[in-house]
Amino acid sequence: RHVNLQDSYKDPEKVNWPSTLSDREKYMFMIRRGIEEGQIRPNYQPLMSTYDEVYGFEVLVRWPHPEQGTIPPNKFIPFAEEEGFVDEIDRYVCEYACREMKQLMDALGQKFILSVNVSAKHIVKGHYVEELKATLERTGFPADLLAVEITESSLVINLKEAAQVIEQLRELGIQVWVDDFGTVYSSLNYLRNLPLDLIKLDGSFVKNIHESHVDRTICETIINLAHDLDLQVVSEGIEYEEQFNTLKAMGCEYFQGYHFKKPMSLDEVKEYLATVKVLDQESLA
Ligand code: C2E
Ligand code: MG
Ligand code: MG
Ligand code: MG
Repeated sequence: RHVNLQDSYKDPEKVNWPSTLSDREKYMFMIRRGIEEGQIRPNYQPLMSTYDEVYGFEVLVRWPHPEQGTIPPNKFIPFAEEEGFVDEIDRYVCEYACREMKQLMDALGQKFILSVNVSAKHIVKGHYVEELKATLERTGFPADLLAVEITESSLVINLKEAAQVIEQLRELGIQVWVDDFGTVYSSLNYLRNLPLDLIKLDGSFVKNIHESHVDRTICETIINLAHDLDLQVVSEGIEYEEQFNTLKAMGCEYFQGYHFKKPMSLDEVKEYLATVKVLDQESLA
């Protein structure tokens, strides 16, 4: 069936969609179109060390829609997961980011970690590791500077399959991180079963750390547990100096949040990097 996609992504209301297309199918078209036209693209939020140096950047997808304003990932990633094509988005965003950041690192003579979000639905879909390897080859981005962030909730579903993929990623030198740690009931079960590098302490625990004894205790306990298991920790959602200082005192290695910087476009990253220090990667090895 023929669909005239001209301008369809701009205003689905104005398009003469075939009556057989559901709203979900139209939205899927819009997203694919957003990718084809390069509207959907990565932004970057710095991950900071205890010394206010940049450890790396998290890649966060952005969709600045010409008519609808910026559509946040929480509006279209879960949809793409449900419809089974989130892998198209993840692959595209990852390749885009690896290419841009490889060029930037070469131009600046600097090295930093790049962490990409991936849906666990994607990693167990098959061929994930081969595809990622091909992306690294095409872009020249070094495997040992790449980290894959897997959200906790999605790990639980496919623990066994996820474990195999994680093993293969680590063999390539790619780090595996758990995102939003602490928000799911069975967290401890997969800490036991998966070979991970780092956990990202969910921002919801950090939010009221200065006034809640309970939240402080949870943060400290998670950080200590992580360290006992040889995992590093990124604290998410740092908005105030106080939160940074408290978590630093608890031994957390890395930090991320609006207190340092909001997610930025590549051009903004370039300006930003001219004003900050980058952590020496060699010193970590
Ligand atoms: P996430 O991976 O946990 O990313 C952190 C989210 O917190 C981002 O929201 C970021 O902009 C926001 N954030 C950062 N610092 C602060 C802060 O100090 N305070 C507050 N309140 N928020 C902060 P964003 O960019 O809207 O992304 C939402 C989620 O969408 C991400 O959560 C991630 O799960 C998902 N996502 C983003 N990009 C991708 C992608 O390329 N692929 C997949 N599969 N998922 C993605
Ligand atoms: Mg993330
Ligand atoms: Mg997160
Ligand atoms: Mg989070």
